[in-house]
Amino acid sequence: MPKATRVGIYVRISKDRKGQELGIQRQEKACRELCERLGWTVLKVYPENDISASTTSRKPRPVYTEILKDARSGVIDAIVVYSIDRLTRRITELTTFLEEQKEYGFAFATTEGEDTSSASGRMILTIKGAVAQQETERMSERVNSALLQRREKGKPHAGGPRVFGFEHGSGFQRLVPEEVKLIRLGYDMLMDRKTPGEVARTWNDKGSRSSGSGTMWTLHKVKRVYRSERLGGIITYKGQVLGDSIYPHPLTKEEWENIQTVLDSRATPVAQGSGKRKHLYSGFLECANCNVSMAVQWASDKTRTFRQTRCQPGRTGADGRIGCGKVSRAYTWIEDRLNEVVEAALIARQPTITPHRFGVDLTGDISRLEERIRLLRLRWKEQKLEDEDYFDALGHLRAELQSLRAQEAAAAVAQSQTEVDALAVWRDDTMQNLERRRAIAATVIAKVEVYSIGRGRRKPPEIDSIRVIPVGQHSPAEGHTPADDR
Ligand SMILES: [Zn+2]
Repeated sequence: MPKATRVGIYVRISKDRKGQELGIQRQEKACRELCERLGWTVLKVYPENDISASTTSRKPRPVYTEILKDARSGVIDAIVVYSIDRLTRRITELTTFLEEQKEYGFAFATTEGEDTSSASGRMILTIKGAVAQQETERMSERVNSALLQRREKGKPHAGGPRVFGFEHGSGFQRLVPEEVKLIRLGYDMLMDRKTPGEVARTWNDKGSRSSGSGTMWTLHKVKRVYRSERLGGIITYKGQVLGDSIYPHPLTKEEWENIQTVLDSRATPVAQGSGKRKHLYSGFLECANCNVSMAVQWASDKTRTFRQTRCQPGRTGADGRIGCGKVSRAYTWIEDRLNEVVEAALIARQPTITPHRFGVDLTGDISRLEERIRLLRLRWKEQKLEDEDYFDALGHLRAELQSLRAQEAAAAVAQSQTEVDALAVWRDDTMQNLERRRAIAATVIAKVEVYSIGRGRRKPPEIDSIRVIPVGQHSPAEGHTPADDR
């Protein structure tokens, strides 16, 4: 990335709880830290008060307009924001922004590390933007605002059992130095390929006891300590990373991530399946019998370990329904089928260029112009129009039409590029790429209803033992069974 010497930092407070007044300071602080890391010089901070507008509002944002104007004219040579949802309120805005950025060549960075220098980076950003838009809309409705605000300020949730290394009742604001020493020692041991069991013994030998029960350390308890995001100063809410703690923490974020890699590489498949989402389609699968979402887990019988998806009896679904526990299926077969569906959809999208999917729909404007030209010609033919007036008007309309067609073509090219990249990203099936692949899958598949096929696995399941509901299509009517399809 080129070195920017005149950075404009754009911060925004908005109606939703993510953007309280205090949030704006954190936004600026994080942006300045990022500039320092990149060796960029900040010229100006652009704060926007957007409180009166809703997420989907089309109300203009004067400061946003100003920073874009300054970027276009070269007053600033880079724009830095805290996150994508601070920059835009709507996905179409993001697309326009990325096009402008490309056209005028200013640099752009977010503290979440987005990269817009490559086409695939921009595609990921677009997907993330879409997710963010949906998230903020949903979040603003249901989130416990006080809790979220607390975290937004960099103060993690104060409740729950004490996390080793942090002072009791301090709300993760103060450390316990002796414990931090042990955590650092354990970190070095684990990075040195020692086992969590060895760390437990060392801690016990030094007289330390676990923070929860006050009992001896075991390898599981040690692992739990290092699995906590708090250790790396990462604040989460319902599994979503919200930001970094402003208070001290025992490990740096990078160190915490290193440890996760080490623990993952040691873990058995069963352990890997616990905690974080590790399966491409978890969250997509729904029991066809009771419509409660199904869990994906590692399971084992006498001969092997395998992944399974099951309707958990008694589990409460989104609309209050209770899991029936009647459907249980091998997961791998389902994943393979869904992969085929997603890949086919991505390939099918490539030749069918729909320029208005993300950007502005110009087809209406273009046909209106074409119609006006037709009517003009008709009137001229009927001699209701002087030659000079006709050619003058025609010239204007044609120029306008040409400009619209050029815009449409540019959007089409950008769109086809995006789809090619989506396919490339999709085909990278490494673990690091899982979340991106889930985001791409979510552009194709809304949900999957899973039917029971009974016990035993003598023959592979029928293809209609799952029902894929594509994005943009409603769920089939109540009482539908796979037999109806035959
Ligand atoms: Zn069920």
